[in-house]
Amino acid sequence: MSTATATAVKSTSAQQGRAIFAVSESENAPMTSSVDRMNTVAASFSTASVNLNRQRRRVMAAALRGLAPLTLEEREEFAGRDGSGKSVEIREIEGSQDVGRRYSVCGCMRSIAFGKGSLTAIQKASGRVHMKGINRCGSVWTCAECAQIIEAHRGEEVKLLIERAREQGFRLFMITYTFPHTIHDSCKDSMNGLSDALRKCRQRRKYRNAQEMLGFVGLVRSTEVTHGSNGWHTHVHEIWVCNPESDSFVPGFAENSSTIKAEIYPQWKAAAVSVFGKARAPSYEHGLDVREVWSDTDYTNKLPDQAAAKAESGKKRWGGDAEMTKSVNKRGKSSSTIWELMDNLSLYRAAGNDDMALVIQGQLEDYARGTYRKRRMYWTPTRGEKLGLRDRFGLRAEQTDEEIVNDAGEPVEGQEPDQVEVSMDVEALPEIARRNGMPIWVYLERLQDTLEERNLLDVLKDDGWVLRRLADREDGVPRWYAGAGLRLVHNKS
Ligand SMILES: [Zn+2]
Repeated sequence: MSTATATAVKSTSAQQGRAIFAVSESENAPMTSSVDRMNTVAASFSTASVNLNRQRRRVMAAALRGLAPLTLEEREEFAGRDGSGKSVEIREIEGSQDVGRRYSVCGCMRSIAFGKGSLTAIQKASGRVHMKGINRCGSVWTCAECAQIIEAHRGEEVKLLIERAREQGFRLFMITYTFPHTIHDSCKDSMNGLSDALRKCRQRRKYRNAQEMLGFVGLVRSTEVTHGSNGWHTHVHEIWVCNPESDSFVPGFAENSSTIKAEIYPQWKAAAVSVFGKARAPSYEHGLDVREVWSDTDYTNKLPDQAAAKAESGKKRWGGDAEMTKSVNKRGKSSSTIWELMDNLSLYRAAGNDDMALVIQGQLEDYARGTYRKRRMYWTPTRGEKLGLRDRFGLRAEQTDEEIVNDAGEPVEGQEPDQVEVSMDVEALPEIARRNGMPIWVYLERLQDTLEERNLLDVLKDDGWVLRRLADREDGVPRWYAGAGLRLVHNKS
């Protein structure tokens, strides 16, 4: 899987005191119903889940602070080629100043998006303060706060793909690949091994034949990592979009997932053995899973027999989109999600269990190295057509993770009304923070942390801001301007 494409290069803005975010092209794109639906999804987070993920973001940032994602040798290796062995323009890599320096989650919500030109604090009815104009890191692997937004967005896209493809008569299959792992594997080896094995699998003639027999036109792929008693459990989900009208489609083959599995499993096993060795051959039972995917909008009479039976027995039809994308909402069964590891680290720290805290700290570091600059989701072109799979099903151009988080606005917006809005003078911020004896980012975090019980305007006054009333917002919410006293006096004179 390509890991070092230009789009995957992390923006450095979040790490720098002064940085400009490029305006994403998508801001000029026409609004589509899918965008509206995504906003609805983003607005559906509960305040509790946003607070939990903020806590997780801070835990992870603290765990990784001061650590470099890449060694010097690895930086050179990265500069030479991407994950697929293709050479990459070194220029692109050099342009990304964070490579080898630090993890971007450490800079999440710590710097001002100067390019956007404004910093706005909004106090909600509950007293909670939401700041607009602070950079988010967009790290889908390590930042729970950003992952929550990105996964909701990408989950909605997968859901739309499933609905639209089903409406047009396509058949959809989710294929899940994994392999036996041990406590001794590093997350990096596990991630790299899995993508190597998948690449080998895709090259196998019989594997491609099986795809042809299903009328395969393209796929969307998602990689996931959890942690259990046997170490890192990495697995890949793919949703195959298949056209039963295609010439190569073999009627009968697609009717039973176990027939498909019987065809694909030997190919996955052979590919995995060539990478991990015979001792790690994926078992028939656990190594590969095949199931047909249906849409919630399918009518029962149009469903394949198996789904109809499931629907009749009152079981919820299985959509597939949540499986692909909603890691922040998942609860591990035999293994923990990475987010649960962060929760455990907080608990052990609070309980003073330093030994266990150290163990988990090590696991989080290993995970961050293993997932560094890896792609979480991948959409293929459409086989036999110039259009990509996204275009084929009317999804707008793919946004980078950074674009998604920085376009998203506040995740819980709309759930509770705004009480007051304050436009803050960005230029005055360093001076105010200094007067309060803290770095800018600490000051900003404190503003968001401690205001639940207090009036934002009082807090700002206490901190030394000079407030000026502005015209009310169109919806009647009072607006204020907060600046430095000296500047205002100077401006008046
Ligand atoms: Zn973040």
